[in-house]
Amino acid sequence: AASSVSGKTYVIGTDTTFAPFEFRDAGGELTGIDMDIIRGIAASQGFAVEIKSLGFNAALQALSSNQVDGVIAGMSITDARKEIYDFSAPYFESGVQIAVAKATTDITGYADLKGQTVTAKTGSEGETFAKSIADQYGFTVKSLDQSATMYEFVKSGNAVAVFDDYPVLAYGISQNNGLKTVTDKEPGGSYGFAVNKGQNPELLAAFNAGLADMKSSGEYQAILDKYLKDPT
Ligand code: GLN
Repeated sequence: AASSVSGKTYVIGTDTTFAPFEFRDAGGELTGIDMDIIRGIAASQGFAVEIKSLGFNAALQALSSNQVDGVIAGMSITDARKEIYDFSAPYFESGVQIAVAKATTDITGYADLKGQTVTAKTGSEGETFAKSIADQYGFTVKSLDQSATMYEFVKSGNAVAVFDDYPVLAYGISQNNGLKTVTDKEPGGSYGFAVNKGQNPELLAAFNAGLADMKSSGEYQAILDKYLKDPT
């Protein structure tokens, strides 16, 4: 199966800024864990990729309508998504967490969100989770399309908290983005590479084969270390 990808070019959708998984480096080039993984697998499996930085929800829509062949975007493997997409083997364990502005002292748990507005990304696991507890804790969810916009929304006081994936919050906080976490992460989905249901099975097989090679050669761990060990 892996040989049938040979020489082909696949269009891959991704998020805009979801560091350390995808973001632009100082020179404006798309970089990050997801980018290194998909480019490394493409190189080892003999196919080419054209990466489209679409935004998370837009990438999922593009996949549903076959405008892209695959999505790698820190995308969690969920049961609901498995109905409409086919996923690779998991490659990173994640989970949702909340963050608040650094100066905020009166929010230490979900109960403190009562009567407040929070933000989460349109179409994300964070949004689904926030909405699932919104009634119970009495808060409102304002969905936005990009992590960077959500963080600004919190820092400007338009929302008191953001629900996002913990490794992305942790990375941003390590770069002094003005936020802090106040709760433990929720156990969550693992990230997978997705194709549209029943489409591009050879691409999915090649991804899984390439990922397995990358793990056994140590290249996968080297990619994680590059972005997570000493983020600068
Ligand atoms: N992991 C989350 C999800 O799949 C968020 C992904 C993202 O924002 N790029 O919903």
